[in-house]
Amino acid sequence: MKFSINTKGFNDVIDITDSVSEKVKKSGIKEGICLISCPGSTCGITTIEYESGAIEDLKRILEKLVPMSKDYEHCKKWGDCNGYAHIRSALIKPFLSVPIENGELLLGAWQQIVFLDFDNRSRRREIYVKVVGK
Ligand code: ZN
Repeated sequence: MKFSINTKGFNDVIDITDSVSEKVKKSGIKEGICLISCPGSTCGITTIEYESGAIEDLKRILEKLVPMSKDYEHCKKWGDCNGYAHIRSALIKPFLSVPIENGELLLGAWQQIVFLDFDNRSRRREIYVKVVGK
């Protein structure tokens, strides 16, 4: 199963919890694992409390760790200056697995699944949801 989203790029953070949850319900699996994945080397999937303060903090910390400068070998070699996006994706990872318990994603009350688009342009992304279990 999959769904698509449009992103603004530049570290756009999108709450995809409802879309993933819908796929889990459609699968009919009650006990198992849900793997959420985006094929791409400039995106990430993780969980966070989806509120503006936490989102801004995440963006600020990522900027400190992996600045959006052009000072990357990737930029010198290929000219597409999204080297920071590849490194952020390598650190956050473009996939996530979440347990399924009683037919629901096992998440905390203030824990949402978020998709991060690090690329330096807007993108249309396909997000795959694989559900295994019984
Ligand atoms: Zn690149």
